[in-house]
Amino acid sequence: MSYIKTFQILGIRRLLMLTFLFLSVVVFNSCSTDSENGTEITENNTEDDNDANEDTDAEQDDPGPQGSIELEDGFTVDEDRMFSSMIVSAAEYQAFLEGNGDLQMVSNKVYQYFEDDFDFIFILSVEEEQPSGLYYGRSSSAQSGVSGLGSSLWDNTAAYGSAGKLKSLIHMPRTEYVRNGPFLHEIAHYWANHGFIATTVGGHWGYSSAGGQLGGFDALEDLGGNTYRGLLNGQTGFGTFANGGNSVPYGNLELYTMGLIEADDLETVMVAENPQSTAVFGEFTADAITEITAAQLIAQHGERLPSAQDAQKAFTGIVVVLSTEALSQSKREQLTADMESFTRQGDPDDSWGNSYNFWRATFEMATLSARITDEQIK
Ligand SMILES: [Zn+2]
Repeated sequence: MSYIKTFQILGIRRLLMLTFLFLSVVVFNSCSTDSENGTEITENNTEDDNDANEDTDAEQDDPGPQGSIELEDGFTVDEDRMFSSMIVSAAEYQAFLEGNGDLQMVSNKVYQYFEDDFDFIFILSVEEEQPSGLYYGRSSSAQSGVSGLGSSLWDNTAAYGSAGKLKSLIHMPRTEYVRNGPFLHEIAHYWANHGFIATTVGGHWGYSSAGGQLGGFDALEDLGGNTYRGLLNGQTGFGTFANGGNSVPYGNLELYTMGLIEADDLETVMVAENPQSTAVFGEFTADAITEITAAQLIAQHGERLPSAQDAQKAFTGIVVVLSTEALSQSKREQLTADMESFTRQGDPDDSWGNSYNFWRATFEMATLSARITDEQIK
């Protein structure tokens, strides 16, 4: 899916404000691969001979609450426990940069050494710059386990080595995207948009008032002549598939699909019919604007099950950093700090500026843990 040609970019003022975060928005060319019959089925990859020997002070028998652990040659739990590090062959590494990475190679290795305790497997490459032509992030669902969201239910977790726990595998080519995004965006893809509302921007909110991590506006001006202007947070312009990396929290439909707010709190959504972008930021033409009430959405899809009252609120993930050689100390420390900020039940570090972490983006209704515990290690 390529969104480069069709999306509405952010308004100019917002663009200036978010120059740094701009990277994570503008050139997404694919960030959702959802299929019902197993995404990313690839040939079995040979386990490579790792050519890096990391010196660690691991004690396999009694690692204690801290300290790196060498699970096998080239697969290590980092000493601060915020990520694991997997040394792969140059070919395996490169495949991820070309969008053909072997997710099952990674997941099978994870489940060889870890319990089936993760909702998400976060795979990070260590590129210093965004690879040309590659997505900024991609979410590959392992199952569809919630009814009422527009998708049928299916379970392909076994293909990844999970017995039903794993929700999705997310790959981002740069560790910096934990802070800048599209990290929040890719997580949301497990739940949306799988047909919850109609869209011309597959997998995303498109030209609708769903305004959140997966695009959309939150206010609309009718300019006459079938032309409209979308705004987000009071500013002209919006993205049809994303809205500025981690700089915006989850929107109303996202919170509902994620199971964090009840149907009573689901808002009427405006959806543009046959939308076409124009040359003006935030402006588009459409045949009509259709309002879809919460009651209509629920009548169409059924109630969300489990309901927000019963839905999971505490999520767990594991970060697997892919590289061809041992990580530098500065890379280790920065990623540790960023993962601690992203998963914190509080504000992220000041260096994050206006970026949201998971807890803030969910309005403090959900948590994400990524610290590797002894209990998770087999
Ligand atoms: Zn996306």
